[in-house]
Amino acid sequence: MRILVVGGAGYIGSHMVKMLLNAKHDVITLDNLSSGHRDAVLGGVFIEGDLADVTCLDHVFQQYQPEAVMHFASYIQVGESVKKPDIYYRNNVTNTLNLLDVMLKYDVKQFIFSSTAAVFGEPDYVPIDEAHVRRPINPYGRSKWMIEQILADYDKAFNFRSVCLRYFNAAGADPDGELGERHNPETHLIPLILQAASGRLEHIQVFGRDYDTPDGTCIRDYIHIVDLCSAHLAALNYLAQGGESDCFNLGNGEGFSVQEVLDAVQQVSGKSIRVIDGPRRMGDPARLVANAHHAHSKLGWMPNYPDLMSIVSHAWKWECKQVS
Ligand code: UDP
Repeated sequence: MRILVVGGAGYIGSHMVKMLLNAKHDVITLDNLSSGHRDAVLGGVFIEGDLADVTCLDHVFQQYQPEAVMHFASYIQVGESVKKPDIYYRNNVTNTLNLLDVMLKYDVKQFIFSSTAAVFGEPDYVPIDEAHVRRPINPYGRSKWMIEQILADYDKAFNFRSVCLRYFNAAGADPDGELGERHNPETHLIPLILQAASGRLEHIQVFGRDYDTPDGTCIRDYIHIVDLCSAHLAALNYLAQGGESDCFNLGNGEGFSVQEVLDAVQQVSGKSIRVIDGPRRMGDPARLVANAHHAHSKLGWMPNYPDLMSIVSHAWKWECKQVS
């Protein structure tokens, strides 16, 4: 198929482009390079452009006639979204509407949307299934929840079929070592610990050791980037075969604490890491773990790298490449 990947130069998007190319799809990447990297797009057509630019969008659809769209382009920092809700709603909501408009205009009605566990806010129970109430607690989570609701309405009104994939903690790197995480600034736990291990960072701060968990640190469900991408591929096949619109939680169903991640990085890297205990970060729930049974049964998706050690070792390989 001809797939438009919006945000294909970013962390998840670039791994997706690689997987789509390997699966022999024709790929068109649209990215404004605000946080992505041109050299992370390993093939297909690349267009530097912004979702705010409706003329550019029109041109892309007219020229390349995509049959389905995957949308990875959004702002992702929870803390920043609280301070700058205007730019989060503009980019994550208004710009997504521009994309949906042009899709309707060109009658492209298969859409895969990057959503997030943040739509659930502070969970009532874990593992979190799709039936759990959506109650986001910050503008980032709300911006994603708004699009999920808009997509449900578009389905009813326009027969526009979409899959929303709610990522828990995306982590790891391309096992071939060609791609990895390159956020600036980096805020995610695993790359920050790896940078502390490789010497790029002086220390890592643990945000709270007084949570109601066995070792007192927060528990998250880390999912390998390649497994996230294979879920998108499964969603694409599902939609292509006429599947109805749906939302899926994506994780391994197992949580690891911040301390367990620290131990894993220490073991994989063989380096000692300077750790400073800090206060809790605002808005961090104690536990976020996915129940991904719906994706297993309806998409036929299963993760290939559910263990923390492979997630950390692939990411460590990438980190070593950054410092060499
Ligand atoms: N965390 C931490 N120190 C850091 C960054 C993150 O202790 O420098 C913790 C954070 O409080 C959370 C977990 O690591 O419990 C994962 O955070 P991350 O930002 O990677 O992902 P999030 O769960 O916020 O999406």
